[in-house]
Amino acid sequence: MELRARMLVVEDEPDIRRFVRMTLESQGHEVFEAATLERGLIEAGSRRPDLAIFDLGLPDGDGIDLIRNLRTWSSAAVIVLSARSGEADKIDALDAGADDYLVKPFGAGELLARVRAQLRRQSLTSSSADTVLRFGTVTVDLVRRVVERNGAPLRLTPIEYRLLTHLASQPDRVIVHRQLLKAVWGPGHAEDTHYVRVHMANLRKKVEDDPARPRHLLTEAGIGYRFRL
Ligand code: CA
Repeated sequence: MELRARMLVVEDEPDIRRFVRMTLESQGHEVFEAATLERGLIEAGSRRPDLAIFDLGLPDGDGIDLIRNLRTWSSAAVIVLSARSGEADKIDALDAGADDYLVKPFGAGELLARVRAQLRRQSLTSSSADTVLRFGTVTVDLVRRVVERNGAPLRLTPIEYRLLTHLASQPDRVIVHRQLLKAVWGPGHAEDTHYVRVHMANLRKKVEDDPARPRHLLTEAGIGYRFRL
């Protein structure tokens, strides 16, 4: 499947910006670029990208503000570029609406894999009126709220069911602990990350072939979780 898209790269370091642009262009994508937050906002508004790659540390502001602004009018996929030391920034960016992150330095193969995953997710979510989720040997009937594994009924608690369907409805997207807690437990539990760990462990035992090495419910250490089909 070939997916060509319009992309916006906002990054103040010329070498990285050029590397990202050339990597994306090598796959036939149309790429626009900006080196500042202000220019990034203008480009985002006029180019209407399908996917945006934002550096978080920009000379005239914080890339997180760029994400917040974009999210008020666009459903474009957003990948943030971050330094390994900026764990809190990464979480804030994901919480503000970014879909994934890349830690500097990164290679062309890694960048393209993340981009492909986001484009695949977009085409899935835009075209699907699907009421049945399938992954591995598990099927989830979202209308009847019935979960089966290898054709046999699988009993999930209401929390496990909400946890699974919230993650699985957004494959390849990193969901931070806070978002997951809000979605599954409600706004009063935003800090109780140990809840997620306990219920995730139980859920993995039920849906993963090898719960110790999950293939679908993946941990993003210190940040949250990512569902992979
Ligand atoms: Ca920077």
